[in-house]
Amino acid sequence: MLKTLKRTVLRTARNTGVFRTAADSRWRQRRLLILCYHGVSIEDEHEWNPELYMPPAVLERRFALLRNNGFRVLPLDEALSRLYSGSLPPRSVALTFDDGFYDFYCKAYSLLKEFGFPATVYLTTWYSGRNEPVFDPACHYLLWKARGGVLDGRQFGIAEQLDLSTPAALDRARWALLNFARHSLDEEGKQELLKQLARTAGVDYGELVRKRLLQIMTPGEVCELARAGIDFQLHTHRHRTPSDRDLFLREIRDNRERLQALTGRNPVHFCYPSGVHKPEFLPWLAEASIASATTCEPDLASPRSNPLLLPRLVDHCGLDEVEFEGWLCGCSAFLPRRG
Ligand SMILES: [Zn+2]
Repeated sequence: MLKTLKRTVLRTARNTGVFRTAADSRWRQRRLLILCYHGVSIEDEHEWNPELYMPPAVLERRFALLRNNGFRVLPLDEALSRLYSGSLPPRSVALTFDDGFYDFYCKAYSLLKEFGFPATVYLTTWYSGRNEPVFDPACHYLLWKARGGVLDGRQFGIAEQLDLSTPAALDRARWALLNFARHSLDEEGKQELLKQLARTAGVDYGELVRKRLLQIMTPGEVCELARAGIDFQLHTHRHRTPSDRDLFLREIRDNRERLQALTGRNPVHFCYPSGVHKPEFLPWLAEASIASATTCEPDLASPRSNPLLLPRLVDHCGLDEVEFEGWLCGCSAFLPRRG
Protein backbone atom coordinates (compact mmCIF):
# COMPACT_ATOMS: atom_id res chain seq x y z
CA MET A 1 0.00 0.00 0.00
CA LEU A 2 2.73 2.44 1.09
CA LYS A 3 4.89 1.23 -1.80
CA THR A 4 2.10 1.92 -4.32
CA LEU A 5 1.52 5.37 -2.84
CA LYS A 6 5.25 6.13 -2.94
CA ARG A 7 5.48 5.11 -6.58
CA THR A 8 2.48 7.30 -7.45
CA VAL A 9 4.06 10.30 -5.68
CA LEU A 10 7.38 9.64 -7.45
CA ARG A 11 5.75 9.26 -10.88
CA THR A 12 3.94 12.56 -10.40
CA ALA A 13 7.20 14.21 -9.31
CA ARG A 14 9.00 12.84 -12.37
CA ASN A 15 6.23 13.87 -14.79
CA THR A 16 6.01 17.41 -13.43
CA GLY A 17 9.75 18.14 -13.61
CA VAL A 18 10.41 17.87 -9.85
CA PHE A 19 13.06 15.16 -10.43
CA ARG A 20 14.99 17.43 -12.81
CA THR A 21 14.78 20.42 -10.46
CA ALA A 22 15.97 18.29 -7.51
CA ALA A 23 18.82 16.74 -9.54
CA ASP A 24 20.07 20.22 -10.51
CA SER A 25 19.65 21.72 -7.03
CA ARG A 26 22.55 22.95 -4.89
CA TRP A 27 21.26 20.59 -2.17
CA ARG A 28 21.86 17.58 -4.47
CA GLN A 29 25.19 18.92 -5.70
CA ARG A 30 26.54 18.83 -2.15
CA ARG A 31 25.55 15.17 -1.91
CA LEU A 32 26.80 11.84 -3.19
CA LEU A 33 24.68 8.78 -3.93
CA ILE A 34 26.68 5.61 -3.28
CA LEU A 35 25.02 2.66 -4.99
CA CYS A 36 25.50 -0.89 -3.72
CA TYR A 37 25.25 -4.02 -5.85
CA HIS A 38 25.82 -7.63 -4.89
CA GLY A 39 25.41 -10.16 -7.68
CA VAL A 40 24.59 -10.12 -11.38
CA SER A 41 22.96 -13.41 -12.38
CA ILE A 42 24.85 -16.02 -14.37
CA GLU A 43 21.67 -18.12 -14.46
CA ASP A 44 18.56 -17.86 -12.27
CA GLU A 45 20.06 -16.35 -9.09
CA HIS A 46 17.72 -13.31 -9.22
CA GLU A 47 14.70 -15.64 -9.10
CA TRP A 48 16.14 -17.17 -5.93
CA ASN A 49 17.19 -13.92 -4.29
CA PRO A 50 15.97 -10.71 -5.99
CA GLU A 51 17.31 -8.68 -3.04
CA LEU A 52 20.88 -9.71 -3.86
CA TYR A 53 20.90 -10.57 -7.56
CA MET A 54 19.78 -8.82 -10.71
CA PRO A 55 19.86 -10.01 -14.32
CA PRO A 56 22.53 -8.30 -16.50
CA ALA A 57 19.77 -6.62 -18.56
CA VAL A 58 18.45 -4.79 -15.46
CA LEU A 59 21.95 -3.57 -14.55
CA GLU A 60 22.44 -2.40 -18.13
CA ARG A 61 19.16 -0.46 -17.94
CA ARG A 62 20.29 1.18 -14.66
CA PHE A 63 23.59 2.19 -16.24
CA ALA A 64 21.71 3.62 -19.25
CA LEU A 65 19.54 5.69 -16.87
CA LEU A 66 22.69 7.08 -15.23
CA ARG A 67 24.26 7.96 -18.56
CA ASN A 68 21.13 9.31 -20.29
CA ASN A 69 20.23 11.54 -17.34
CA GLY A 70 23.71 13.07 -17.07
CA PHE A 71 24.76 11.51 -13.75
CA ARG A 72 28.48 11.66 -13.06
CA VAL A 73 29.89 8.33 -11.91
CA LEU A 74 33.06 9.06 -9.95
CA PRO A 75 35.68 6.70 -8.49
CA LEU A 76 34.81 6.19 -4.81
CA ASP A 77 38.03 7.70 -3.45
CA GLU A 78 37.70 10.85 -5.57
CA ALA A 79 33.96 11.12 -4.82
CA LEU A 80 34.57 11.00 -1.06
CA SER A 81 37.37 13.56 -1.05
CA ARG A 82 35.24 15.91 -3.19
CA LEU A 83 32.21 15.29 -0.93
CA TYR A 84 34.14 16.54 2.11
CA SER A 85 35.93 19.38 0.27
CA GLY A 86 32.62 20.62 -1.19
CA SER A 87 33.77 20.23 -4.81
CA LEU A 88 31.45 17.51 -6.14
CA PRO A 89 30.17 17.99 -9.69
CA PRO A 90 26.38 18.04 -10.16
CA ARG A 91 24.57 14.65 -10.04
CA SER A 92 27.40 12.66 -8.40
CA VAL A 93 27.16 8.90 -7.99
CA ALA A 94 29.65 6.16 -6.96
CA LEU A 95 29.23 2.47 -7.80
CA THR A 96 30.18 -0.28 -5.33
CA PHE A 97 29.88 -4.08 -5.58
CA ASP A 98 30.03 -6.21 -2.44
CA ASP A 99 31.87 -9.50 -1.89
CA GLY A 100 33.62 -9.92 -5.29
CA PHE A 101 31.69 -12.82 -6.75
CA TYR A 102 32.80 -14.31 -10.08
CA ASP A 103 29.67 -12.86 -11.70
CA PHE A 104 31.25 -9.41 -11.29
CA TYR A 105 34.14 -10.63 -13.48
CA CYS A 106 31.97 -12.30 -16.13
CA LYS A 107 28.86 -10.05 -16.16
CA ALA A 108 29.23 -6.66 -14.46
CA TYR A 109 32.73 -5.76 -15.62
CA SER A 110 31.91 -5.79 -19.36
CA LEU A 111 28.94 -3.46 -18.72
CA LEU A 112 31.11 -1.08 -16.67
CA LYS A 113 33.63 -1.03 -19.51
CA GLU A 114 30.95 -0.41 -22.12
CA PHE A 115 29.61 2.58 -20.18
CA GLY A 116 33.05 3.80 -19.07
CA PHE A 117 32.04 3.79 -15.39
CA PRO A 118 34.57 3.38 -12.55
CA ALA A 119 33.63 0.97 -9.73
CA THR A 120 34.79 -0.29 -6.36
CA VAL A 121 34.61 -3.96 -5.36
CA TYR A 122 34.62 -4.65 -1.62
CA LEU A 123 36.38 -8.01 -1.73
CA THR A 124 36.14 -10.67 0.95
CA THR A 125 39.32 -12.67 0.39
CA TRP A 126 39.07 -16.03 2.21
CA TYR A 127 37.14 -17.82 -0.55
CA SER A 128 39.26 -16.31 -3.36
CA GLY A 129 41.07 -19.15 -5.14
CA ARG A 130 39.21 -21.97 -3.37
CA ASN A 131 37.16 -22.72 -6.51
CA GLU A 132 34.12 -23.71 -4.51
CA PRO A 133 30.81 -21.97 -3.81
CA VAL A 134 30.54 -19.77 -0.71
CA PHE A 135 28.75 -22.01 1.77
CA ASP A 136 26.00 -19.80 3.22
CA PRO A 137 24.48 -18.48 -0.04
CA ALA A 138 25.05 -21.84 -1.82
CA CYS A 139 23.17 -23.66 0.96
CA HIS A 140 20.29 -21.18 0.61
CA TYR A 141 20.31 -21.45 -3.20
CA LEU A 142 20.21 -25.27 -3.18
CA LEU A 143 17.39 -25.35 -0.60
CA TRP A 144 15.48 -23.00 -2.92
CA LYS A 145 16.16 -25.41 -5.79
CA ALA A 146 14.59 -28.19 -3.66
CA ARG A 147 11.66 -25.98 -2.59
CA GLY A 148 8.17 -27.41 -2.23
CA GLY A 149 9.18 -30.71 -0.66
CA VAL A 150 10.35 -32.09 2.66
CA LEU A 151 13.96 -33.19 3.21
CA ASP A 152 15.05 -35.78 5.71
CA GLY A 153 17.56 -33.87 7.84
CA ARG A 154 19.25 -37.11 8.98
CA GLN A 155 21.10 -37.38 5.64
CA PHE A 156 22.85 -34.11 6.55
CA GLY A 157 23.42 -35.02 10.19
CA ILE A 158 20.53 -33.20 11.86
CA ALA A 159 17.67 -35.01 13.55
CA GLU A 160 14.74 -33.21 11.99
CA GLN A 161 12.66 -33.00 8.87
CA LEU A 162 13.36 -29.95 6.75
CA ASP A 163 10.07 -28.57 5.47
CA LEU A 164 10.57 -26.52 2.31
CA SER A 165 6.90 -26.05 1.45
CA THR A 166 6.70 -22.28 2.10
CA PRO A 167 9.27 -19.44 2.01
CA ALA A 168 9.08 -19.14 5.84
CA ALA A 169 9.62 -22.89 6.31
CA LEU A 170 12.51 -22.80 3.82
CA ASP A 171 14.07 -20.00 5.83
CA ARG A 172 13.79 -22.05 9.05
CA ALA A 173 15.41 -25.02 7.29
CA ARG A 174 18.20 -22.77 6.06
CA TRP A 175 18.99 -21.53 9.56
CA ALA A 176 18.88 -25.08 10.95
CA LEU A 177 21.47 -26.17 8.36
CA LEU A 178 23.63 -23.05 8.74
CA ASN A 179 23.73 -23.38 12.54
CA PHE A 180 24.53 -27.06 12.30
CA ALA A 181 27.31 -26.42 9.77
CA ARG A 182 28.75 -23.50 11.74
CA HIS A 183 29.08 -25.53 14.92
CA SER A 184 29.81 -29.01 13.61
CA LEU A 185 31.50 -28.91 10.21
CA ASP A 186 34.85 -27.82 8.80
CA GLU A 187 35.06 -26.42 5.26
CA GLU A 188 35.40 -29.88 3.73
CA GLY A 189 32.32 -31.05 5.64
CA LYS A 190 30.40 -28.00 4.44
CA GLN A 191 31.25 -28.71 0.81
CA GLU A 192 30.16 -32.35 1.33
CA LEU A 193 26.85 -31.08 2.71
CA LEU A 194 26.40 -28.89 -0.38
CA LYS A 195 27.05 -31.89 -2.65
CA GLN A 196 24.47 -33.93 -0.75
CA LEU A 197 21.99 -31.09 -0.86
CA ALA A 198 22.54 -30.66 -4.62
CA ARG A 199 21.89 -34.38 -5.20
CA THR A 200 18.65 -34.16 -3.23
CA ALA A 201 17.61 -31.01 -5.12
CA GLY A 202 18.38 -32.63 -8.50
CA VAL A 203 21.16 -30.13 -9.24
CA ASP A 204 24.39 -31.24 -10.96
CA TYR A 205 26.92 -30.02 -8.39
CA GLY A 206 29.90 -30.46 -10.77
CA GLU A 207 28.11 -28.22 -13.28
CA LEU A 208 27.36 -25.63 -10.58
CA VAL A 209 31.06 -25.52 -9.68
CA ARG A 210 32.13 -25.39 -13.35
CA LYS A 211 29.81 -22.47 -14.03
CA ARG A 212 31.28 -20.77 -10.94
CA LEU A 213 27.93 -19.78 -9.47
CA LEU A 214 28.30 -18.20 -6.00
CA GLN A 215 32.10 -18.32 -6.14
CA ILE A 216 34.46 -15.48 -5.31
CA MET A 217 36.87 -14.29 -8.03
CA THR A 218 40.24 -16.04 -8.18
CA PRO A 219 43.45 -14.10 -7.29
CA GLY A 220 44.29 -14.07 -11.04
CA GLU A 221 40.94 -12.48 -11.91
CA VAL A 222 41.34 -9.86 -9.17
CA CYS A 223 44.86 -8.99 -10.46
CA GLU A 224 43.57 -8.70 -14.02
CA LEU A 225 40.68 -6.38 -13.08
CA ALA A 226 42.86 -4.30 -10.74
CA ARG A 227 45.26 -3.73 -13.65
CA ALA A 228 42.27 -2.73 -15.80
CA GLY A 229 41.31 -0.04 -13.28
CA ILE A 230 38.78 -1.71 -10.96
CA ASP A 231 39.25 -0.47 -7.40
CA PHE A 232 39.39 -3.28 -4.78
CA GLN A 233 38.68 -2.36 -1.15
CA LEU A 234 38.11 -3.99 2.26
CA HIS A 235 35.20 -6.23 3.29
CA THR A 236 36.99 -8.38 5.96
CA HIS A 237 38.84 -11.60 5.12
CA ARG A 238 36.13 -14.03 6.28
CA HIS A 239 33.05 -11.81 5.85
CA ARG A 240 32.56 -11.28 9.56
CA THR A 241 32.95 -8.56 12.18
CA PRO A 242 33.88 -10.16 15.54
CA SER A 243 32.96 -8.27 18.71
CA ASP A 244 36.48 -8.84 20.02
CA ARG A 245 38.85 -5.98 19.10
CA ASP A 246 41.86 -8.16 18.27
CA LEU A 247 39.84 -10.52 16.08
CA PHE A 248 38.13 -7.59 14.38
CA LEU A 249 41.49 -5.97 13.59
CA ARG A 250 42.84 -9.31 12.39
CA GLU A 251 39.98 -9.55 9.87
CA ILE A 252 41.00 -6.16 8.45
CA ARG A 253 44.72 -7.00 8.52
CA ASP A 254 44.28 -10.36 6.74
CA ASN A 255 41.96 -8.79 4.18
CA ARG A 256 44.34 -5.85 3.59
CA GLU A 257 47.45 -8.02 3.23
CA ARG A 258 45.83 -10.13 0.54
CA LEU A 259 44.41 -7.12 -1.30
CA GLN A 260 47.83 -5.44 -1.24
CA ALA A 261 49.46 -8.56 -2.66
CA LEU A 262 46.86 -8.78 -5.45
CA THR A 263 46.54 -5.13 -6.42
CA GLY A 264 49.79 -3.51 -5.25
CA ARG A 265 47.74 -0.79 -3.51
CA ASN A 266 46.88 -0.10 0.13
CA PRO A 267 43.10 -0.30 0.58
CA VAL A 268 41.62 2.24 3.03
CA HIS A 269 37.90 2.04 2.25
CA PHE A 270 35.76 -0.49 4.09
CA CYS A 271 32.27 -1.94 3.80
CA TYR A 272 30.53 -3.58 6.78
CA PRO A 273 29.76 -7.25 5.93
CA SER A 274 25.95 -7.66 5.75
CA GLY A 275 25.73 -3.97 6.70
CA VAL A 276 26.18 -4.82 10.40
CA HIS A 277 27.84 -2.05 12.41
CA LYS A 278 28.20 -1.32 16.12
CA PRO A 279 29.52 1.81 17.90
CA GLU A 280 32.61 -0.04 19.18
CA PHE A 281 33.75 -0.75 15.59
CA LEU A 282 34.40 2.94 14.86
CA PRO A 283 37.54 3.44 17.00
CA TRP A 284 38.86 0.09 15.77
CA LEU A 285 38.38 1.19 12.14
CA ALA A 286 40.16 4.46 12.91
CA GLU A 287 42.99 2.47 14.52
CA ALA A 288 43.28 0.44 11.29
CA SER A 289 43.60 3.72 9.29
CA ILE A 290 40.28 3.21 7.53
CA ALA A 291 39.27 6.38 5.66
CA SER A 292 35.64 5.44 4.98
CA ALA A 293 33.12 2.73 5.83
CA THR A 294 29.81 2.16 4.04
CA THR A 295 26.60 0.75 5.52
CA CYS A 296 23.41 -0.41 3.77
CA GLU A 297 21.28 2.39 5.18
CA PRO A 298 19.60 4.12 2.26
CA ASP A 299 20.37 7.82 1.95
CA LEU A 300 22.61 10.24 0.10
CA ALA A 301 25.92 11.03 1.79
CA SER A 302 26.40 14.68 2.78
CA PRO A 303 29.49 16.56 4.04
CA ARG A 304 28.01 16.09 7.52
CA SER A 305 27.91 12.28 7.23
CA ASN A 306 30.29 10.39 9.49
CA PRO A 307 32.86 8.95 7.02
CA LEU A 308 32.79 5.67 8.98
CA LEU A 309 28.98 5.40 8.72
CA LEU A 310 28.28 6.36 5.12
CA PRO A 311 24.79 5.59 3.80
CA ARG A 312 24.39 3.56 0.63
CA LEU A 313 21.46 2.57 -1.53
CA VAL A 314 21.21 -1.19 -2.15
CA ASP A 315 19.88 -1.42 -5.69
CA HIS A 316 17.93 -4.60 -6.47
CA CYS A 317 15.27 -6.10 -8.74
CA GLY A 318 12.43 -5.11 -6.40
CA LEU A 319 13.30 -1.42 -6.80
CA ASP A 320 11.05 0.08 -9.46
CA GLU A 321 12.74 2.27 -12.07
CA VAL A 322 10.94 5.37 -10.79
CA GLU A 323 12.17 4.58 -7.25
CA PHE A 324 15.72 4.24 -8.56
CA GLU A 325 15.44 7.57 -10.39
CA GLY A 326 13.91 9.07 -7.24
CA TRP A 327 17.11 8.18 -5.39
CA LEU A 328 19.35 9.45 -8.18
CA CYS A 329 17.82 12.92 -8.06
CA GLY A 330 17.50 12.86 -4.24
CA CYS A 331 13.67 13.06 -3.96
CA SER A 332 13.40 9.59 -2.36
CA ALA A 333 15.44 10.80 0.63
CA PHE A 334 12.32 12.74 1.70
CA LEU A 335 9.93 9.78 1.54
CA PRO A 336 9.40 7.07 4.19
CA ARG A 337 12.07 4.37 3.77
CA ARG A 338 9.86 1.35 4.46
CA GLY A 339 7.29 -0.11 2.11
ZN1 LIG B 1 29.17 -8.88 1.83
